[in-house]
Amino acid sequence: MTDLPAGTDDPHSTDGPAVPAVLAPVGGWRTATVAGIDHPTAHGVRLRLDVPDRVDHLPGQHYVLRLTAPDGYTATRSYSIASAPSDPLLELFVEVLPDGEVSGFLDEVVEPGDELEVRGPIGGWFVWTGERQAVAIGAGSGVVPLVSMLRHARDVGRTDALTLVTGARTLADLPYADEFRAAGAHLVLSREDHDGRPAGRLAAADLAGLLTGAERGFVCGSAGFAETASVLLADLGMDVQQIRVERFGPTS
Ligand SMILES: Cc1cc2nc3c(=O)[nH]c(=O)nc-3n(C[C@H](O)[C@H](O)[C@H](O)COP(=O)(O)OP(=O)(O)OC[C@H]3O[C@@H](n4cnc5c(N)ncnc54)[C@H](O)[C@@H]3O)c2cc1C
Repeated sequence: MTDLPAGTDDPHSTDGPAVPAVLAPVGGWRTATVAGIDHPTAHGVRLRLDVPDRVDHLPGQHYVLRLTAPDGYTATRSYSIASAPSDPLLELFVEVLPDGEVSGFLDEVVEPGDELEVRGPIGGWFVWTGERQAVAIGAGSGVVPLVSMLRHARDVGRTDALTLVTGARTLADLPYADEFRAAGAHLVLSREDHDGRPAGRLAAADLAGLLTGAERGFVCGSAGFAETASVLLADLGMDVQQIRVERFGPTS
């Protein structure tokens, strides 16, 4: 089973820069212990995992999580890392989908102390380490890797190098809304007016003025959102070679 939909940036792809060996998928499956779990939004579950012998990740990378039923059936899904590399625990945020096999299980069944199989960190393409001036745009659960980038930016004193644009239907639906607001992120709410911005989907006006000095763009979210945001970045003059996209589409 794979959950990399067509077109998703594949860390094993030969397109784009080669993945340095240190960024290749690391090791085998590890057994993580759930140190904490809560439900910060109506349709979101946040997991704090203690991963033994964890390999340091880079902001933007993800893990694969594998569930195994008593009859041996397995389901694997990818989840972006929300925590900073400096965090001793691994934090994931999962949007709970209607009839979602894995997200529903994490939401309804998993408790502190439970063990989960994980493998990672994975990905060498959708990664921001603080060197380059960047604009990062995410919507829905697509904001999760941006949380890791933000936390890392704070750790290394590079918040000036990262411009964040985060979207959801409403403020209550936006994962990590308080943290993004405190960081000065630009909020794009499709169904709610916010701070003088009328409700509406991401548009050129939201990004105009934010790209000055930006050397790289990161876009993360559903296939439709990713398409819209990357076209907007290109139309506003960003070199398409510098636009890195991660799509969280339906699993095939
Ligand atoms: C690199 C990568 C990183 C990811 N990071 C995150 C993350 O940080 N947080 C997160 O919540 N998800 C993330 N995802 C998506 C995640 O891997 C799963 O696809 C998602 O949790 C749904 O799994 P499920 O088993 O609950 O739903 P499924 O049982 O697979 O599907 C249930 C229903 O929802 C639809 N569906 C499946 N996935 C999605 C989706 N992403 N959006 C809308 N509809 C969908 C299906 O078509 C189906 O109708 C990531 C995906 C990738 C490729």
